[in-house]
Amino acid sequence: MPRMYCQAPLASGLSLDLPAGAARHVQVLRLQPGSNITLFNGQGGEFEAQVTEMGRSQVQVLVGAHIAVERERGRAVHIALGMPANERMDWLVEKATELGVASIQPLMTQRTVLRLSGDRALKKQAHWQHIAIAACEQCGGNRVPTVHAVMSLDAWLANLAPLDNFDNLATSAATLSLNTPRLLLSLAPGSLAWGSAVSRISDTTPVIFLSGPEGGFAQAEEASAQGHGFQPVSLGDRVLRAETAALVALTALTV
Ligand code: SAH
Repeated sequence: MPRMYCQAPLASGLSLDLPAGAARHVQVLRLQPGSNITLFNGQGGEFEAQVTEMGRSQVQVLVGAHIAVERERGRAVHIALGMPANERMDWLVEKATELGVASIQPLMTQRTVLRLSGDRALKKQAHWQHIAIAACEQCGGNRVPTVHAVMSLDAWLANLAPLDNFDNLATSAATLSLNTPRLLLSLAPGSLAWGSAVSRISDTTPVIFLSGPEGGFAQAEEASAQGHGFQPVSLGDRVLRAETAALVALTALTV
């Protein structure tokens, strides 16, 4: 059954005009009055619904039963990463959402190829958020991960300090707390082996990890991250592409 994200209050028995994005989705699928759909708004579970009227651009639905189903992972994993360029970031947002990421923080670092500010940064953020919504519609996730505004690594790290200041990031699904383990995916010698780092963290503890862009982090950036409590961890001897490294770490933390 088609699933649609509906950014509006939902309740059984409510009749409403779908917000623009969901309405467009219904139009594209050429659904008709009487068609059954599933709606979710990120507030928990999902709702059965039926299309009751189709206008030129308006779609009216009648909201049916609430189904208290969640398909989230046992732990919240937050990714902060040097944005890979081109369609690789789109791809990463889609796959990370499918794998159950809690939030994604796109970062500009010394070696990120993609430089974004002002309007372009906002447009990209909205574009990635839209990809996350579409991925949730597809995979059954009822909690849409937040794609945060693009920031520089330095500003982001400064925002994290002191360690208990995580809430300033206004993360959606889970609150990052003082004790949220911070991992730095690093190729530097001396990084902790992945297995031994993760074995110290319980299965349900939220985790945040920082991952580099195509060109990797500069040494000073890694040092700065460590200064902010990030533990360097290695995923092995192979140099993985930026998006591969982030997805491997996410998978290893969620499956
Ligand atoms: N050209 C860069 C490679 C960067 S790979 C260089 O040689 O340094 C992009 C990012 O993916 C890295 O900054 C790191 O965060 C992560 N990464 C890639 N392979 C990794 C591995 N084996 N272990 C840990 N992190 C890795």
